[in-house]
Amino acid sequence: MALVVQKYGGTSVGAPDRIQNVARRVLETQRAGNSVVVVVSAMSGVTDNLIKLARQVSTAPTDREMDVLLSTGEQTTIALTAMAINEMGGKAISVTGAQAGIITDGIHTKAKIANISPRQIRKYLNDGFICIVAGFQGQTLQGQITTLGRGGSDLTAIAIAAAIKADNCEIYTDVDGIYTCDPRIVPEARKIDVIAYDELLEMASSGSKVMQSRSVEFAKKFKVPFEVRSSFNTNRGTIVKEETPGLENVVVRGVSVERNQAKVTIPNVPDRPGAASRIFTALSDAHVVIDVIVQNVSIAGSTDISFTMNRDELEKIGHTLDGILKEIGAGALVKQDGIAKLSVVGIGMRSHSGVAARLFEALGKGGVNIQMISTSEIKIAVIIEEAKIVEAANLAHEAFGLAKA
Ligand code: ASP
Ligand code: MG
Repeated sequence: MALVVQKYGGTSVGAPDRIQNVARRVLETQRAGNSVVVVVSAMSGVTDNLIKLARQVSTAPTDREMDVLLSTGEQTTIALTAMAINEMGGKAISVTGAQAGIITDGIHTKAKIANISPRQIRKYLNDGFICIVAGFQGQTLQGQITTLGRGGSDLTAIAIAAAIKADNCEIYTDVDGIYTCDPRIVPEARKIDVIAYDELLEMASSGSKVMQSRSVEFAKKFKVPFEVRSSFNTNRGTIVKEETPGLENVVVRGVSVERNQAKVTIPNVPDRPGAASRIFTALSDAHVVIDVIVQNVSIAGSTDISFTMNRDELEKIGHTLDGILKEIGAGALVKQDGIAKLSVVGIGMRSHSGVAARLFEALGKGGVNIQMISTSEIKIAVIIEEAKIVEAANLAHEAFGLAKA
């Protein structure tokens, strides 16, 4: 008999018939001889709607009240799911984050889990219940309701799996798993069978968002393997786990694409200590989230600095830098949007050479111009014209042999 944690995301519980579908699947899992803990999200759209409602009555609701409000989304789902299972003759009980013993710090709307005491869950499981736990929420030691940041139900599932030492942790969503690239962009993309935590984290930060990154980091830290799979079929999904030697044989695991990027170039930045610091401190004070930064080699005492960000961030820059650039004697900044980022990711890069060359060759042959390059140990990213991104993704996907065998 195995101890199984299953997490169902918003689309999987997005309507009454979908909740009934989840109820059936959960019951089957239990009837196959397992103990089952289920973590659910709010029904799809509910969290967004609650945020909209809040804005209609307040321009600046406190984070505490936002948490009290947002936690109701998941609470609705746990009750409905438990009812559906009980209606089918099963024995289920709903459990809030607080009842599940999830203790967090006091940073409302993005609380961190400090501790889990799953005594209550264990007791219910021993009594034969299926536990339906509300994702995304916890409470402080003082009993205040908190939430774990958008997408936080994933974190609840991983953390509970770690706390009760589950044999399996299954993250059910509306896709079949993690793909070598977005199939809407590369039709030949295929489902990845096994991926390392670090690869999934790099792919997520490069635009392939399947799971909340914090939950993957948590899984890595506490060594919780999990499977991402679909709640709409019975296909096996993608196993996410620690690195093993065999995983390194594949040089590139996947290609990620991030559209809607923008680039800023500052020409003639004097090459002296403190210049970059002035620029990026000002951007950080304006809460602009920067992605790739490239500084050129300095010629005759000055250099160019370019950086990218999401297109929406571009507006935030406004006149933030005007004064500073004058003060340090740099040229006027040049803004450009209509660019995108393409990344190839794989832990095999650590032990294989020529990966960058292969990517650049493929793009070059396809007439795709590279504007910026950035690398990490397991990722090569290029900034290119957005109009070329579909073509570039297909070229990269093919160059690394990622298509179906
Ligand atoms: N309902 C929350 C959200 O929409 C948490 C989750 O779905 O994981 O962000
Ligand atoms: Mg969600």
